[in-house]
Amino acid sequence: MNDKTTISYYELTKLVPDKMAALRLLERKRWGTSGRICPFCGHRHSCARGGTRAGYYRCCRCHKEFTVRTASIFERSHIPLDKWILAIYMMVTARKGISSLQLSKELSIRQNSAWFMMHRIRSSMGERGNAFLQGIVERDETCIGGKESNKHKRKRLKSGRGSIGKSAVVGIRRRKGRGFAKVVPNTKMQTFRPMMYKTVLLGSVVNTDDFREYDGLSEQYQYKTVNHSAKLFVDAMACTNGIESVWAVLNRGRYGIFHQFSLKHLQRYVDEFAFRLNEGSCKIPTLERMDALFNGAWNRHLDYSSLVGRGELNE
Ligand SMILES: [Zn+2]
Repeated sequence: MNDKTTISYYELTKLVPDKMAALRLLERKRWGTSGRICPFCGHRHSCARGGTRAGYYRCCRCHKEFTVRTASIFERSHIPLDKWILAIYMMVTARKGISSLQLSKELSIRQNSAWFMMHRIRSSMGERGNAFLQGIVERDETCIGGKESNKHKRKRLKSGRGSIGKSAVVGIRRRKGRGFAKVVPNTKMQTFRPMMYKTVLLGSVVNTDDFREYDGLSEQYQYKTVNHSAKLFVDAMACTNGIESVWAVLNRGRYGIFHQFSLKHLQRYVDEFAFRLNEGSCKIPTLERMDALFNGAWNRHLDYSSLVGRGELNE
């Protein structure tokens, strides 16, 4: 669309001046030039509804009506598509993240609408593609979450001790390359092992600062323990230089922008930061970075109820 490396907010508003331009842009992103595909049955023939119903199509086989929003992160949202595109631009380009309050002001929408949009956008930043990491890979883990004693009595988690109220996040990243991070219930080997098989090509070199025995993995991967002081490890800050930047960026966002992550939504926040790290290089044109997000936007839907549960609004 544009061969410039970065585009400004102003330039984007020229590219997507109104709802109709946004609709056409998303249709091109979703269906390309090969034609619309019915999201219900996969049929390739549909007819456009006329008049005021621009963007509505009826499938010639199952006769259901659909739009570009059907079965996507944009489904059943009252926010106009041009605002969605501006929100995506802001989330992709804000290096340290953007808060829902700030986004709500930029787009003149309510804060809880902004919060909901942002979680939907994050959901398309999650695991995309199945490309294996290979070569030299770094792994590290960190804990996110506050001390129980600092919380309001009502919000404290009752049982257990130590790591209760915290979530472990394991990060795996190719040296100077792509990576991903996943929230895990614990850091035991039986949790970690399937993750490795799924993401790292067998035979790769894995750098870690972990002293544990890698039961059942040492034959498939070459492990190299980076020998740092135990204190650094206890601090849970990565000693393996590459993956460290994931935690650094995540923590900056956590303290600077979001103040506090809700552990319930942690995976989506982690996805957002990993996405920005993977796609955020200034050398990758802004529109390509946005394309990477659009690719994850289709065939998924996030229920409002599954997001907010008891109707709480928190970052
Ligand atoms: Zn159909």
